Amino acid sequence: MVGRVYLSSSVADREKLHMKIGVLALQGSFIEHMRVMQRLGIEALPVRLPGELDGLDGLIIPGGESTTMLSLMKSFRFIQPLKELAQSEFPVLGTCAGMVCLAKQVSNYEMETLAVMDIVVRRNAFGRQIDSFEAELPVPALGDEPFHAVFIRAPFIEKAGSQVEILAKLSDGTAVVARQGKLVVAAFHPELANDLRFHSYFLEAVI
Ligand code: GLN
Repeated sequence: MVGRVYLSSSVADREKLHMKIGVLALQGSFIEHMRVMQRLGIEALPVRLPGELDGLDGLIIPGGESTTMLSLMKSFRFIQPLKELAQSEFPVLGTCAGMVCLAKQVSNYEMETLAVMDIVVRRNAFGRQIDSFEAELPVPALGDEPFHAVFIRAPFIEKAGSQVEILAKLSDGTAVVARQGKLVVAAFHPELANDLRFHSYFLEAVI
């Protein structure tokens, strides 16, 4: 395991034993997120129907294909319950396509998102030749050691409202990690890094 786990105090340890984190399991890399949660000793449940959101302490919207995911969310009637949860201090982690789903606007595609986070994102933003790449990304909120960030046809954050804190930028200044209250987003795939720090950081929003 790389890095340290951030849930260290005994209060946090007691709390985390009772936590239930849902992972939206309509499409994309939900199994990988569930594995990370299991490695952290957290109960992770796949969410395939809106009723399965009941009783959760937080939710992860994984990477995948945001258009597919949003159209499945619509078919399975997730849009309204997810909007309500995300607007009520319920912790949600959105990674890659999950970040696109949470954004209030997508600058380069006509698409309807959940629109709960005050960010404008650009989809498939890194151009063809480098539309997948990896970077050692400094994320001060995770500690001194950079995070090995895997970008797969990733979006980036073009604009962010005043309530949004940008937590990481690429070396050219492109914003790729942000937080607004209990909503946390990353343009990359933290579940593929073999580093538990990102998910631990999110769990702190849950506690
Ligand atoms: N290109 C995808 C989208 O915008 C995101 C890719 C990913 O999640 N790895 O939906």
